[in-house]
Amino acid sequence: MGSKRPRQVLITGCSVGVKGPQVFARRWQAETAATTSQHQEEKVTVTIDANLLQCCVCSGPLTTPLFQCTKGHISCSDCCTDGALDDESECLMCREPETATRCRAIERFLAGMSVPCLFRQHGCTEMIPYRDTQSHEASCRYAPSHCPIPGCAGYAGKSLADHIRVGHPTVHHTSVRPDCVTPLRMHASEQARVLWLSSCCAKFLLVAGRDVPSGRSLSIVGLMDEQFQDEFKYRIEVVGKDGVLTLSGQANGVERLARPYQASAFLFVPNAIWDSYPEDIPVFVHLK
Ligand SMILES: [Zn+2]
Ligand SMILES: [Zn+2]
Ligand SMILES: [Zn+2]
Ligand SMILES: [Zn+2]
Repeated sequence: MGSKRPRQVLITGCSVGVKGPQVFARRWQAETAATTSQHQEEKVTVTIDANLLQCCVCSGPLTTPLFQCTKGHISCSDCCTDGALDDESECLMCREPETATRCRAIERFLAGMSVPCLFRQHGCTEMIPYRDTQSHEASCRYAPSHCPIPGCAGYAGKSLADHIRVGHPTVHHTSVRPDCVTPLRMHASEQARVLWLSSCCAKFLLVAGRDVPSGRSLSIVGLMDEQFQDEFKYRIEVVGKDGVLTLSGQANGVERLARPYQASAFLFVPNAIWDSYPEDIPVFVHLK
């Protein structure tokens, strides 16, 4: 699922001031040009080796403050001893009693730089200010996402609700009335069921997980985007020969899963119950 930053990075940056033949102009002309272009930031696009944006010590992305030792090792603040306090710290590459100093030139370069999103191959067209790349990638809607349906390899570039609609067309849908017990019949091989609470325009996914030994884990995921404010309560019941298994809780909305799905609560249904019914197992769902 994880993606690696490409080795070549396309960069857009700002160049301000005198350019081209103006360098050879008389001094007063150059000064005039510099003054008038002060507020006109010209963008240039370059590609560079992605290794140049890595810390020499930890190979992580270069983040400010940056330090450079006298041997030219550039490292991030995490990799410089005492680096957070002031401009003086020790380079971990050299391991010599040597002082590394702030590398303000590269800091300035990074501050004016924008890079394409790491997930552009999945459809993100944004150019991100370099300092914001980590926060953007953590919330980018084109980042690879996980799916709670067992066996699904995941997807990118959509919400979970859209992925289930497009990527799992064989998943059954059942319309559920709010605050009413709805009986479902789930086949032993069924991995998930979409529950459609039509009066509230809300969809839920009932997942029959295979992540527990000797049984299935039934759990509910709300297929809602971030704007959806309503809170929904649910109850799931499975009737076995020796009694009724019940789970109730709150269905939390999920727009996309950045990590593999782990239900915060699930109903353990032993294989003995699934096997005790010749075909479908009755599951009762209550949503409000
Ligand atoms: Zn580092
Ligand atoms: Zn060094
Ligand atoms: Zn993005
Ligand atoms: Zn899926």
